Amino acid sequence: MKQPPCPAKEPPDQPFIPFTHTGRRLLEMFQLLLAHFGPQNWWPAETPLEVMIGAILTQNTNWTNVEKAISNLKGKGLISLDCLVSLPTAELAQEIRPAGYYNIKAKRLKNLLNYIVDQYHGDLAYFFNQETDAIREGLLSVNGVGQETADSIVLYAANRPLFVVDAYTHRILSRHSMAPEEATYHDIQSLFMDHLPEDVSLYNEFHALIVLTGKHYCRKNPLCPECPLHRWEEHQ
Ligand code: SF4
Repeated sequence: MKQPPCPAKEPPDQPFIPFTHTGRRLLEMFQLLLAHFGPQNWWPAETPLEVMIGAILTQNTNWTNVEKAISNLKGKGLISLDCLVSLPTAELAQEIRPAGYYNIKAKRLKNLLNYIVDQYHGDLAYFFNQETDAIREGLLSVNGVGQETADSIVLYAANRPLFVVDAYTHRILSRHSMAPEEATYHDIQSLFMDHLPEDVSLYNEFHALIVLTGKHYCRKNPLCPECPLHRWEEHQ
């Protein structure tokens, strides 16, 4: 009996090789950081809702403080859309006090969660099931949600390939002559997204690694000799 033909073998995964000089430099940056810090597997949250909460709470503070605030919410069983929406803003502010700017952040968090309740009947899965641009625009329409916060939610909660830019990204690229001082958020985001593949896991890790670099080395007074990017080309 004639045997059916063997199924075609899947081609092995090919490593991505960027076409442009900028793409190669960015990939080199990523590889140096990954080799130094290892995979970060962000976002440190259990659910998309927790990512959203963390994205608001982490504005202008470090993650250790955010963890304390989230731990307060968890300890009281408040990490649900219904609980957070029905909790008076003043009480929410007290629970998230360790994150700093707690009155402002409580209002911002309420704005964001009320938006989901009012526009999407509280159905987060439905909200995240839209086109990426619609998710982003929706988030940006909320008072207190800026580009970095919106894109963090799009990337880490909705799992869509959008590169998150923060002050560290700007500083590192500018110190390495990859972007001018006056580059906008959009300029820097486009630099990554135009020269690297649209890949959620790459963007996820890359942003996390940049944050670590900024926190540990690329401070106001940079610690270049110890930094993993010290060997990166065209360093000024
Ligand atoms: S600390 Fe120095 S080597 Fe490291 S990213 Fe900043 S400027 Fe570059």
